[in-house]
Amino acid sequence: MTGRPNLYGALDLGGTKVRAVVADSEGRVYGEDIRPSRTEEGLDAVVSRLAESLQVALGQAGAELTDLKGVGVASPGAVDVKRGMVPSAPQLPGWHEVPLAEIMSRRLGLDVCLENDATAAALGEHTFGGGRGVRHMVYLTVSTGIGGGIIIDGKLYRGASGAAGELGHITIDSSGPPCGCGARGHLESLASGTAIARRGEELVAKGESQVLAELRRQEGRVTAEMMERAAGLGDVASREVFREAGHYLGIALASYVNIFNPEVILIGGGVARAGDLFMEQARTTMQALAMSQPLKDVRLGLGELGDRAGPLGMIARLREAVGQEQAKGPRR
Ligand SMILES: [Zn+2]
Repeated sequence: MTGRPNLYGALDLGGTKVRAVVADSEGRVYGEDIRPSRTEEGLDAVVSRLAESLQVALGQAGAELTDLKGVGVASPGAVDVKRGMVPSAPQLPGWHEVPLAEIMSRRLGLDVCLENDATAAALGEHTFGGGRGVRHMVYLTVSTGIGGGIIIDGKLYRGASGAAGELGHITIDSSGPPCGCGARGHLESLASGTAIARRGEELVAKGESQVLAELRRQEGRVTAEMMERAAGLGDVASREVFREAGHYLGIALASYVNIFNPEVILIGGGVARAGDLFMEQARTTMQALAMSQPLKDVRLGLGELGDRAGPLGMIARLREAVGQEQAKGPRR
């Protein structure tokens, strides 16, 4: 035993990285491990990697698996929370209807719960980050894709089957580019890191950015991060792509303001953290399009927890589940 009675384990499964966090019920992190996910190696390899990562984080914390009160996994995709299933996700090639909670539970010998990664990040920011004490909050993560979570009256809004909060999949332009979900012109297809990189490739193909063409020649394909550097070097075309993506985000934010009347909208994810221009334009467009009354109430800002938002959200969820068990325990 470690003398820390409320330790939890959280695993964040991403398309490029897995992250294991061991933290207590107050979100204090005692151990953390990050490694490449290598999802192309298949399910068994990824499951082993998650388990190894957790062991390393436990080692840092001076704890063992049996010290944990629970383990939570945050996964991409429209996760079926009740059944603990990952249906399929672009970040997880070859995965279909994977009962990940059960697989991890058998592997670790502990109860394991599953949550969509963006939903978990919303919970994390609400419990331990920029949304502490807030009753009505909208959270978006803008990275490779765009996900989100909605807090209503201090609680996560899940919808009928737990799939609520897909804030990246609202239509901005019905004749726009194809989205990963199969539709056209969704916010994700216009303002995600993937969308920004695609616009960058177009700039290079049309000969509209010498700076980007040179970076691409040195490093291979265009990424949103590369475009951010090009914008920093004064490349007007790259700056315009970020401004345009920010405008599309702002259109969506105005709708969230009108629909949810939130106190706070927090944006997480690498793209938002990278670009001032992106966030400034999103704010300007949101202010131009939202209705005046709900607009007065809302504060738009960046998430505070960075890449730990998802894992800490799983800690929040586990803490709540244990609290509910304890509350009903002695009376039965
Ligand atoms: Zn979509």
